[in-house]
Amino acid sequence: MQLTEDQQSIRDSVARVCAAYDDEYWRRTDETGVFPQAFVDDMAAGGWLGIAMPEEAGGAGLGLTEAALMMQTVTESGAGFTGASAIHLNIFGLMPLVKFGTEAQRMELLPRAISGEDSACFGVTEPNSGLDTASLETRAEKSGNGYVINGRKIWTTNAQRANKILLIARTTPKDQCAKPHQGLSLFYTDLDRQYVDAQPIPKMGRKAVECNTLFIDNLPVPADDLVGEEGKGFQYLLHGLNPERVLFGAEAVGLGRAALRKATQYAKERVVFGRPIGQNQGIQHPLARAFMELEAANLMVFEGARAFDAGEDAGASANAAKYLGAEAGFSACETAMLTHGGMGYAKEYDVERYLREAMIARIAPVSREMIFNYVAERVLGLPKSY
Ligand SMILES: Cc1cc2nc3c(=O)[nH]c(=O)nc-3n(C[C@H](O)[C@H](O)[C@H](O)COP(=O)(O)OP(=O)(O)OC[C@H]3O[C@@H](n4cnc5c(N)ncnc54)[C@H](O)[C@@H]3O)c2cc1C
Repeated sequence: MQLTEDQQSIRDSVARVCAAYDDEYWRRTDETGVFPQAFVDDMAAGGWLGIAMPEEAGGAGLGLTEAALMMQTVTESGAGFTGASAIHLNIFGLMPLVKFGTEAQRMELLPRAISGEDSACFGVTEPNSGLDTASLETRAEKSGNGYVINGRKIWTTNAQRANKILLIARTTPKDQCAKPHQGLSLFYTDLDRQYVDAQPIPKMGRKAVECNTLFIDNLPVPADDLVGEEGKGFQYLLHGLNPERVLFGAEAVGLGRAALRKATQYAKERVVFGRPIGQNQGIQHPLARAFMELEAANLMVFEGARAFDAGEDAGASANAAKYLGAEAGFSACETAMLTHGGMGYAKEYDVERYLREAMIARIAPVSREMIFNYVAERVLGLPKSY
């Protein structure tokens, strides 16, 4: 892909920030589970958290293409999903607020997210509803000049440190709505730990950026924290879905490239049977395939970004970008690990960490199966299967 001078400069500048955080740094965060705050502070200080935020709120006002380039540079540096997920929500997660928030919400809250003063988490997934968002059980009931929220969320990333939460809850019972996705409302509110208990979930990778089960017990929410109109929360969420898919695809390709770089280097240096292992086609060909798969997925990623930035319907390309990027990224990480032989299983070579992190993009923010469902139904015109 041909980058413009400005886009190349974004890549170079982000790469310079990332260069201060070497493999040893990310290996340590993965071992200790300590959040990479220094890295996040540096990215915030460089203004990168506001790359896609409106200029009037202190952002750079750039598009998804630039944001995807930036996030890909982060994962590709070796920071992987630990680095990317530590800042991911700031990039497009607050889009519903940008598009549907009041002037006061936008002008007060967005600058705080851009500067890193506020740290947010995103509460959609629930234990009893999973991908079936319309069936979520968390409810917001009117109380005085606001709401009281009760319910449970699961997998909420960053809830240990976040002081804000973008939270979706039902305000009208499903059976009283014309359509199941109606009656859901979106709130951007304080994560008040007096009413919200966040329990970390022990998990496979990305230890330093935790996921949680949230127990929300009578959380009082002022009416001013409602985003847009009551009952339209799901509709608002949809506006952030395509960009998030593109970002995940870009991040997964970046991680795959980091793995491929490590594997190629190792294949040149490791000598067995009197020659570098990279002289064997059995080692070369999977690496060559990984390169082609990553670069093909990358073209789809930037087609998704282009379509979104141009205001076109990006549904098909954004879903394809997330699927292809995640698969190519995972496959490159697996190939890298196998190229290293036994050392692929050792933490000091990093590729086992990459492989564990590569699984994230295959599952979240939407599963592969739901992408297949989308393409089958919305692109190919097949009957809805679920
Ligand atoms: C590391 C990580 C971070 C996350 N961070 C967040 C976060 O910050 N906030 C948040 O809200 N969520 C977060 N999630 C949750 C994530 O978005 C969900 O795990 C994901 O959307 C899948 O939902 P589920 O786990 O409930 O799967 P389920 O809905 O239980 O589905 C399980 C499996 O069944 C398949 N399936 C279900 N229905 C169908 C169907 N009709 N057709 C075909 N297959 C089907 C799914 O594809 C999936 O493979 C995170 C998850 C992970 C792993």
